[in-house]
Amino acid sequence: MDMNAFFENALDGLRDAGNYRVFADLERHAGDFPRATRYRPDGETHDVTVWCSNDYLGMGQNAVVTSAMKEAIDRCGAGAGGTRNISGTNHYHVLLEKELADLHGKEAALIFTSGYVSNWAAISTLASRVPGCIVYSDGLNHASMIEGIRHSRADKRIWKHNDPEDLERKLAADDPERPKLVAFESVYSMDGDIAPIAEICDVAEKYGAMTYLDEVHAVGMYGPRGGGVAEREGLMDRLTVIEGTMGKAFGVMGGYIAASTALCDFVRSFSSGFIFTTALPPALAAGATASIQHLKGNEILRRRHKERVAKLRAKLDARSIPHMSNPSHIVPVMVGNAAKCKWISDLLLDSYGIYVQPINYPTVPVGTERLRITPTPLHSDADIDHLVGALNDLWSQCALSRAVA
Ligand SMILES: *Cc1c(COP(=O)(O)O)cnc(C)c1O
Repeated sequence: MDMNAFFENALDGLRDAGNYRVFADLERHAGDFPRATRYRPDGETHDVTVWCSNDYLGMGQNAVVTSAMKEAIDRCGAGAGGTRNISGTNHYHVLLEKELADLHGKEAALIFTSGYVSNWAAISTLASRVPGCIVYSDGLNHASMIEGIRHSRADKRIWKHNDPEDLERKLAADDPERPKLVAFESVYSMDGDIAPIAEICDVAEKYGAMTYLDEVHAVGMYGPRGGGVAEREGLMDRLTVIEGTMGKAFGVMGGYIAASTALCDFVRSFSSGFIFTTALPPALAAGATASIQHLKGNEILRRRHKERVAKLRAKLDARSIPHMSNPSHIVPVMVGNAAKCKWISDLLLDSYGIYVQPINYPTVPVGTERLRITPTPLHSDADIDHLVGALNDLWSQCALSRAVA
């Protein structure tokens, strides 16, 4: 078999369906967030304003974070030098785990090389090592949780997205004696909707199930100390496991779980995805710790962020640009057609210096293609006006439907 022909053919299939992913080649400008230089395929460069970053608060370029990282590099060097088990546990890792446990009001925390790995490793370890465990997974859970469940080979039930009644039906139908794990997210990335965490905990507690909450899009962002939606709603102690990332609002990289000492020690001891991989560089741990501490004690960025999100929504409404209403910071501007979505995104980039990645199937259902816009505290009024003006031009050129007031 001609393997390269096979690979090319499969890729052509993606291109024909409009699902082939093209990465924007960017060089971010430290200290000038959200600006970046874009390298075009022809080698030319131009400046762009990034409107789709998950560095939601610009912490990736905050001097508090970058100076902590520089200092840690100067003290400890570049890499960790080993797995956590064999010489790679640096004091910065230990401090970060303490900081995370405190953030979520838990006894302990355990860090992983990414949020993806933390979900995959923690869920697969719990679900495979707890005898007879059944996993109840929200229908819109992130790929990393789905892969963790799949890898565990545990029995699983998919419950209707954000629907505690459907969850209850599924829990009630199973053997009360079997251990259970309910896995869900707080803020869902693509629609920006938020789970009814209290109701889900009520149901889970009634059936003696453990709860596992992915707060990846909420940590640093919600709650008085940036502990997430569960902190905001006073629910952290009701969740068995809270999972998060240092790669989004905290602006660095790495994932974690926070839970009881025994549960974290169990995952630490039995998870291959935790133990058989090089520990995070000490500088990353130092940067994440500085970022978490800064956002624990500082509401200014969160307040300014909310104000920016509200301003963008109001300006979109004034031009009747349709966007999905939701209670979060994610602003999905709805296009509803894969080719048009890509076309608008290309024109925004090439003609307006605005970068918003198109979001098409399979990330979202066909017919709900969108621009997922993430305003930050560092987007100015002029940035917002430029974005909304550009969208307004393109909506007219493309004869896209407007929102009905
Ligand atoms: C981004 C994301 C992750 C993975 O986190 P990383 O740190 O980027 O690997 C996990 N869960 C959800 C819901 C995400 O959106």
